This record gives sequence, C-alpha cells and structure tokens, in this order.
Amino acid sequence: MNLSNFGASLRSLQGHLGSLMAQGSSASEASAASRVEAKISLRNVSRSYSREKGEPVAALQDIHLAVTPGEFLCIVGPSGCGKSTLLHMIAGLDKPSAGEILLNGRAVQEPGPDRILIFQDLGLFPWLTVLENVEFGMRMKGAKKDEMQARARRYLNLVHLSQFEDSYIHQLSGGMRQRVALARALAIQPDVLLMDEPFAALDAQTRDRLHDELERIWSETGQTIIFVTHNVREAARLGDRIVVLTFRPGRIKTEIRSDLPRPRHMEDPHVVQVAGQVMDELRGEIDRSLESEFQSEKNP
Ligand code: ADP
Repeated sequence: MNLSNFGASLRSLQGHLGSLMAQGSSASEASAASRVEAKISLRNVSRSYSREKGEPVAALQDIHLAVTPGEFLCIVGPSGCGKSTLLHMIAGLDKPSAGEILLNGRAVQEPGPDRILIFQDLGLFPWLTVLENVEFGMRMKGAKKDEMQARARRYLNLVHLSQFEDSYIHQLSGGMRQRVALARALAIQPDVLLMDEPFAALDAQTRDRLHDELERIWSETGQTIIFVTHNVREAARLGDRIVVLTFRPGRIKTEIRSDLPRPRHMEDPHVVQVAGQVMDELRGEIDRSLESEFQSEKNP
C-alpha cells in the first residue's frame, strides 16, 4: 500500500468513526465522543429566513453531521436546498436559527483564520499582482513581510504558478485564477477549507487538472475539506463521503461513502459507478426543485 492509499484508508476509517459517532446507539456517548474527535460537528442545525410576506423559508432543517479531521466531504443537492447557507454558517458568516455548530469542540461564533471559504466569485484584486494577492490574506493576519513573501511563493509553487507571480489577474486564464485563489487560501494555512462550487465555471479539462491538484495538496496538507457541488461526478471523484441533501428544507437524505483508492480520475468506471449511486438519490430532489420553480413561475 503506498502512502497516499494508506492516508486515504486512515481518513476513511476516521470517516466511519465520525458517522458512527453521529448515529451511534447512545446519543450521549456519541455526543461526548464527537465533541472530542470531530473537526466540525453540526447538531440539529436549522436555518430559516423570514420573508416580508408569508411564512419564513426553511432553508435547512435538523442537520446532524460530524466531519472528521482530514476528511474530504462533498455535499450535493439541488439548487436552493441550503448548500451555501450550510457553508456560510460553518464559516461563521451566518448563524443557525436552531442547533449548534462546533469546530474542534467549540461553538462557531464568527469567522476565523482556521476556516477559509472559497467560491466561484474569487474576490481577487485586479490591481495587485499574483504574488501580492496571495500575500493579501496573510497580511490581514499580521504576518511579517519576509515570511509572507516566502510563504506566498511556496504556495504558488504548490499550484504551479511560480512563473506568474508578477502577472496581474486579467493576464491569467480562469483555471489559473482559481489556482491563485487556492494558493491565497492555503497560504493562510487554515485547518478547514470550505469550497462552494469553486470549479463550476471552468471547462472540463481545466477542472480535471484542478481536481488533481486539489487532491494532491489535500493529501499533503491533511486539511479538512467541505466541498459543495451540484456535479455528482465531481463529488464521486473527490469525496471520501458524499452527503446528499433534500430539496427545501434541506435535510440529509443519505450519505454515500467512497473508499476508492487515490489518486482518482473522473473517467474511472468506479468513480462513474459511485456518481450513479449519488444521482439515484438526487434525481427525485432535482425533480422537486424544478417543480417548485415552475410553480412559482405560474403563481408568482
Ligand atoms: P443552494 O446553495 O443549495 O442553492 P442556498 O443556501 O443559497 O441554496 O439557499 C437556500 C434557501 O434559502 C433558498 O430558498 C434561498 O432563497 C434562501 N436564502 C438563502 N439566503 C437567504 C437570505 N439571506 N435571505 C433570505 N433567504 C435566503
């Protein structure tokens, strides 16, 4: 067994333990265990939004989830099921209406440098060079100039962008911009990466390359990743575990574990098979989401 397979097996075992902790026979035992062991715990988390007219919208309901240290967790669900809301709450940018979210056993109250949210709208600064963009996040943490520069260069090297450190953002392709955003996030050395459909706007080849890089970096750094996507193949390609959410209100419909060896490939028949399993769970929820959209078009 090579090292990366060993790492994957260990993470998978940790993932199993996380699930057992979340679903265990004794709720109090599970609670005590997951408080200590889980990197992130969501306990009966719900989030609803009030509206000017009518009932509040229940975005998420009763989410109970334990994410183990170093786990690569993917979350899939139809549009509007609360995936982004979930990440925002873990990031500390939004608060549950009920339930609690713990990071390393402590309640999440606000954003912190231990968690970074990466989304499609990358928030890179066009007036800064690639190197300066990567340094920017560290500057916010008060790092020293020399240390910032050395670390920025290290992470640009990790995403194969060393030769572009003096370029400006408009001089880069979409995939390169994503890698700058990834380097900027990694340079802060967060324990947890929260990724909200980060590669959705990219062409298939670029996305495949970024999957490879993300998987490699993850296996080197041991970070915990929660990756939201509506692409089942992407989830099967990347995840140790794939959580499927129902359409509004978003609840956990099922979890599918994937112990496939790494590195993986998008076209691998086993990945395709896991993606098929995820799609079987998701199909009904997508239908419900589309029906709801048609209804609101008919009765605005
Ligand atoms: P997803 O990421 O799965 O597409 P979201 O988390 O963006 O779903 O949204 C889930 C539901 O919560 C949607 O019905 C959305 O309209 C509603 N929602 C999200 N954020 C807000 C907000 N700030 N105010 C009101 N409703 C919101």
